[in-house]
Amino acid sequence: MLEIKGLTAKIDDKEILRGIDLTVPDGEVHAIMGPNGAGKSTLSYVLSGREGYEVTGGSVLFNGRDLLAIEPEERAAAGVFLAFQYPVELPGVGNANFIRTALNAVRRARGEPELDAVAFLKEARSAIKALKMPDDMLKRNVNVGFSGGEKKRNEILQMALLKPALALLDETDSGLDIDALKIVADGVNALRGPRFSALVITHYQRLLDHIVPDRVHVLAAGQIVRSGGPELALELEANGYAGLEAA
Ligand code: ADP
Ligand code: MG
Ligand code: MG
Repeated sequence: MLEIKGLTAKIDDKEILRGIDLTVPDGEVHAIMGPNGAGKSTLSYVLSGREGYEVTGGSVLFNGRDLLAIEPEERAAAGVFLAFQYPVELPGVGNANFIRTALNAVRRARGEPELDAVAFLKEARSAIKALKMPDDMLKRNVNVGFSGGEKKRNEILQMALLKPALALLDETDSGLDIDALKIVADGVNALRGPRFSALVITHYQRLLDHIVPDRVHVLAAGQIVRSGGPELALELEANGYAGLEAA
């Protein structure tokens, strides 16, 4: 379970997160919505340990472990998958090797045997098929020349293979057409189960038509100002965020 308590964070001395309280129990998928500039991406960056964000207070526990105290790479080993809004391109690095390296690091941390190239390809091909992705996805260099939709597919492929305990997805802004949203949704839905939880940050209500969340939270001006069931997303779509500012 993910437990965020009183989380405050700054960028350049500007307070962006102003006391986030949020619990995501195992087996649940929660959505975070909210107006532009609310701090949604900042929350995902802080949880991912990205540089430039200063945590000034509060705590983040994942299955009792202090996430903020461990290095970003170790967060993956702890079962946390972080999908970045702008996935990095790695010229000269083959996608299959890249994903296998990441997967084996996680397997080592879990005490599972590493996968050799043959065993990995077998798993990867079946994941690719299940996600209806093109076969050459593994042969290309990591994200190089990938379209927005292909990067998104690649991210979801990584998630499908890593089988995280907690997935954190920030689906902000540009480039996500309906097909890409469907890929993200299928990827999350395929992992749903008692030992998986996810925090899906989105301002696309239509993503939530495909991933029906257990809970929806509204982040405005750095605080969670409302929480509800999936119907809250529909209400927001109808009425907008007006009147939802933090007290
Ligand atoms: P959201 O994802 O909800 O649209 P963000 O987390 O991207 O919001 O941004 C929250 C606030 O932080 C905004 O006011 C934004 O201008 C500010 N902000 C984000 N990144 C930076 C940065 N690198 N430097 C200064 N201010 C930033
Ligand atoms: Mg934004
Ligand atoms: Mg954002």
